[in-house]
Amino acid sequence: MKMTIIQRTSLLSDLITEKRKEGVTIGFVPTMGALHAGHLQLIGASGAQCNLTVCSIFVNPTQFNDQNDFLKYPNTREKDIRQLYQSAAGVLFLPSVADIYPVGTGALETYDLGYLDRVLEAAFRPGHFQGVCQVMSRLLGMVQPDRLYMGQKDYQQCMVVRRLLGLLQLPVTLEIQPTLREPDGLAMSSRNTRLQKDQRDKAPLIYRTMLYIQSGLSAGSLRPLKKEATLELENGGFRVDYLEIADAATLEPVEHWNGKTELVVLVAAFLGEVRLIDNMLLNVS
Ligand code: AMP
Repeated sequence: MKMTIIQRTSLLSDLITEKRKEGVTIGFVPTMGALHAGHLQLIGASGAQCNLTVCSIFVNPTQFNDQNDFLKYPNTREKDIRQLYQSAAGVLFLPSVADIYPVGTGALETYDLGYLDRVLEAAFRPGHFQGVCQVMSRLLGMVQPDRLYMGQKDYQQCMVVRRLLGLLQLPVTLEIQPTLREPDGLAMSSRNTRLQKDQRDKAPLIYRTMLYIQSGLSAGSLRPLKKEATLELENGGFRVDYLEIADAATLEPVEHWNGKTELVVLVAAFLGEVRLIDNMLLNVS
């Protein structure tokens, strides 16, 4: 399939205006590059539902609370482009920081994300979701998609972006795709390439621990199960930021389960200096 690579915002804007006039349905897949099958799944889903799929690659500086993580974020640009040429993407948007933030990143707007900006990822990565909203609001304004494709892998981010769409009153449908995993259960992630061999061997324990939680789930206090699972990860070499079982709809932690509320387990843990996140819906039909 023919794909156009666009770097300048003004050129993207011209193309989108033209496509909108033609009545084309636009699907958007925002990424930070170092593409893997999880990203390509989102592009495939968009390609199946939309006439034009726009993929962006932009490593957004404002969503990194850890400078080291930003500087070490993997960059595989040539390989990304090769993969995209084989995909359903019609446009690859590759903006620079100045294209996205023409007046700099010094005094950016903030978004009222409520509870979502206080718990789990937000608690451990202060400012992260404000950064996500800052970049997403700009990209959505530029791409003007009908549908936005994101991965369940970043569960809280999906909830934040759903809220952002509401705050901005944008008529965009959020399409959440399941987490793609390696054969041993490790969730695919650009950051996995930073794991050393021994860390890579340990990494699937997150998945196995979530499965253990799923099989051990029963009504009543969830505390012993959470404690046991956290210890399991720590014994397996992880430094755990959080392991939480929460209401899948609100992300409120559930200490005492009534046996009915739909639950999600969410984990963030370090192997060395690489931080991995994952989640699993526990009892959602
Ligand atoms: P990133 O490049 O990490 O910002 O991710 C771009 C998009 O791909 C986000 O919507 C992610 O949730 C999604 N994504 C990342 N990893 C996976 C995966 N293993 N399975 C499905 N979607 C993913």
